[in-house]
Amino acid sequence: MDVTLSCGAATDTGRRAANEDSYLAQAPAFLVADGMGGHQHGRQASDTAVAALRGLLSHHPLAPEDVVAAVDNARAAVAELAAHPHLAGRAPGSTLSGAVLTRHHGEPYWLVVNIGDSRTYRFRDGQLAQVSVDHSEVQELLDAGQTQIPAELGNIITRALGAGTDSQPDYWLIPVADHDRVLVCSDGLSREVDGPGIARILADEPDPAAAAAHLVAAALAAGGHDNITVVVVDATFTEAQRRDGVATDTVPHRTAVDIDESTLPKRLRAASEEQA
Ligand code: MN
Repeated sequence: MDVTLSCGAATDTGRRAANEDSYLAQAPAFLVADGMGGHQHGRQASDTAVAALRGLLSHHPLAPEDVVAAVDNARAAVAELAAHPHLAGRAPGSTLSGAVLTRHHGEPYWLVVNIGDSRTYRFRDGQLAQVSVDHSEVQELLDAGQTQIPAELGNIITRALGAGTDSQPDYWLIPVADHDRVLVCSDGLSREVDGPGIARILADEPDPAAAAAHLVAAALAAGGHDNITVVVVDATFTEAQRRDGVATDTVPHRTAVDIDESTLPKRLRAASEEQA
């Protein structure tokens, strides 16, 4: 791969009794999972999701389809946890969000995946853009044009891995640009620190590990009501990739319809029709 990745991660329990977030921050996969289900089951769900995705680390280069297949495995593995007799019908679940470096038509792309309300952002040229779209009741009201969001909606999510559902993740395929920075986080960051606050820290701190630590510290300073997990990854092109060049003017799309539909994973194509 003609892209060099450097990453950092940080996590903190915040004011919760236990940390139910899990993450993977190792090239080429940068993922955060926020478990739910009470007691130790939330952590088990997020750990199970991340463990199922570890297989991505041993394949080079990855195609977008490989990531879709691994996420399907993660969904199945989390769903299986519900069979545990101690759970008495309460199926644990987990969010999953993040970016995986893939090759598509020979070029480097971020395959961004999301299910639930953890988030993946891209920081490019000093601008922070949220790539993922939350699967939450709040987001549904925003999509419907509502501007007054009832506070009691809190953090109700509408899709997850497991949790007694078979709901599907969303995917985006985004060309990697030289000096891209990607931020993946659980809602313990995004609920405590707003976009400009996040952007300021990403701009001020060139080291990804230090940026992740500063973001967690900012969330704690703002209250730290929930578990906080942050992964920051920087992409730098090698000289060979710079010579090749790639389109860097492409904005993130909900699906990859503008790239080459005929070669995309089935799921991506189906989703693009659904969104159209
Ligand atoms: Mn959370």
